Amino acid sequence: MKPSPAFNTLNRFLKRHPVEDVERFWEDEAGYRDWVTNKPDGYVINVVRDGKLVLHKATCGTVTDFSQQMTVFGVKVCSKDRANLESLCRAAFKREPESCGRCFSEDDRPGNGRTKNFHLPLPAQVYSLLRDEASRANRPATVLARQAIEDWLRQRRKAATHDAIAAYVAEMAGTGADLDPAFEAASLEYLAESERRP
Ligand SMILES: [Zn+2]
Repeated sequence: MKPSPAFNTLNRFLKRHPVEDVERFWEDEAGYRDWVTNKPDGYVINVVRDGKLVLHKATCGTVTDFSQQMTVFGVKVCSKDRANLESLCRAAFKREPESCGRCFSEDDRPGNGRTKNFHLPLPAQVYSLLRDEASRANRPATVLARQAIEDWLRQRRKAATHDAIAAYVAEMAGTGADLDPAFEAASLEYLAESERRP
């Protein structure tokens, strides 16, 4: 196996910060071929020349046409979880992954109707904190802000589901939906029985 600085960097990083559901391949065409064949809805980050990171869908011809030399070139980092994969590569290689123009031709591009612009004036202090955070994380401020909003919305949805379940439980307490009359009767009989015993 030829040495690959990128692969070594990744292995060192994963040793310190293990990440679940991520596989990596270098000079292992059979293993990699197996992965993309079995996980057609997964994602692949190809570490190409100069350490550039290119994100592909696992069905993209660029990373699955095994008759092409390009397909096997470069370290492959694979996962079914795109966000997980991108944040791992970002942290390990200190670079922002780019989306492949071929398999993401329409998705994820601004101005294609799948994204909407939202003008959000920020107080100067919030803006400058966001800028600082972005330069520390070495990521665009817009990406950070989008992720923060997505995380917050996810938490809100989770909280709303929790509240709905709690309300249902409170409402149904003591009713037929809560108690099983047959079980209830059996346990009462059992209690009565044990009380009669000396
Ligand atoms: Zn692609």
